Amino acid sequence: MAQADFDVAVIGGGPSGATAANDLARRGLKVLLLDRAGRIKPCGGAIPPRLLKDFEIPESLLVAKARAARMIAPSGREVDMPVGDGPEGKGFVGMVDRDVFDEWLRERARANGATRITGSYERIDRDSDGMAVLVWREGRGGPDRRLRVRSVIGADGARSAVAKENIPGATDVKCVFAYHEIIKAPEPAVAADFDPDRCDVYYQGHLSPDFYAWIFPHGETASIGLGSAHKGFALRETTALMRKQVGLDGCETIRKEGAPIPLKPLKRWDNGRDIVVAGDAAGVVAPASGEGIYYAMACGRLAADSVYQFLATGKPAALKQARKAFMSKHGKVFWILGIMQYFWYSSDKRRERFVKMCADPDVQYLTWQSYMHKELVRRKPVAHAKIFVKDMGHLLGLSRA
Ligand SMILES: Cc1cc2nc3c(=O)[nH]c(=O)nc-3n(C[C@H](O)[C@H](O)[C@H](O)COP(=O)(O)OP(=O)(O)OC[C@H]3O[C@@H](n4cnc5c(N)ncnc54)[C@H](O)[C@@H]3O)c2cc1C
Repeated sequence: MAQADFDVAVIGGGPSGATAANDLARRGLKVLLLDRAGRIKPCGGAIPPRLLKDFEIPESLLVAKARAARMIAPSGREVDMPVGDGPEGKGFVGMVDRDVFDEWLRERARANGATRITGSYERIDRDSDGMAVLVWREGRGGPDRRLRVRSVIGADGARSAVAKENIPGATDVKCVFAYHEIIKAPEPAVAADFDPDRCDVYYQGHLSPDFYAWIFPHGETASIGLGSAHKGFALRETTALMRKQVGLDGCETIRKEGAPIPLKPLKRWDNGRDIVVAGDAAGVVAPASGEGIYYAMACGRLAADSVYQFLATGKPAALKQARKAFMSKHGKVFWILGIMQYFWYSSDKRRERFVKMCADPDVQYLTWQSYMHKELVRRKPVAHAKIFVKDMGHLLGLSRA
């Protein structure tokens, strides 16, 4: 039988693929990391401190640290949520610029032994012995190039071609369409309400009928944008309106860009043979928050583990472990956030009540602890019980806005 060119081909060099490639190269496998050239991933770039710890990311990649979030209700009522302290010291929401962050992750994988190729995935063929053949091209219109590979990780983002072509049921993923503009951060004197240490989150139906709008500080720049699952929603026009509303319409615009955010994990992540998908390609962005970077990396790591086991044992069933392990760790949080989004983001009346609820110190404590540490907090049962009672009161309309 002819040899394989690579043990694993990782398609896509975003946070998910670059993490998977790095982990597998470190474990001594022959890894190919294929990524398309050029486009910077449209992204707010907010990451939790836990990500730095779990994936050994230096703090020097952070362009800003937000110390609070401000929630803004339909009425204009503002609730500040200071991040508070964690066990590792003062808490924060870290901000990365995706061009720099993603390239750092890809280069780390290369430094640990992965082969980087810039090019575009075309399809997976099969050789006569059944082995997967990765077909890729250097540029548009270029010739097909072929590589024999023992396994494939599809980390090619939302609308993944690897998933659509190889994973049963991966055709229709529910998405929020997100759009943002990168602007030059205003001088304090120009926009008194912009705070370079704070994330602003707008829960206002005219800015997003079913998700939220945001302003995230990024040092010298800022990301201002919004999302909605409504196909016809005017994302660009509404962003312009928002910039006017918050007094940032005069700031220089550096980039305008958008992309879909998948909000539901696929029911299957593998093809039962030698392919597994990860990150946005597997649909693992948290509902309600749209947080995807941490989960893409966690998922990339689990996909890498499953491929490693598959190659060691020759048993394709090992690939199923990626989804199983991910859902057992994060499935509950995704489920709770899904219900939250469905209920609280559905009308201005409910959004108003939601923002009011965010003023509660117990809500703030649990929100930040689970965001920063990616675990449901078990240490404060009394806070959980209080929130449950309050939540029920709000859900049943017993509390007044
Ligand atoms: C506007 C917006 C704002 C967001 N803000 C945040 C935020 O603040 N915080 C957060 O945590 N998440 C945020 N997200 C979500 C987050 O960006 C994603 O969940 C995350 O990037 C997923 O990582 P990934 O590696 O799975 O996919 P991606 O980052 O999309 O990477 C996929 C990679 O695959 C490559 N690729 C695709 N097709 C091919 C092909 N045919 N051949 C070769 N390569 C290919 C692409 O070039 C890309 O490098 C936001 C998303 C959007 C759209």
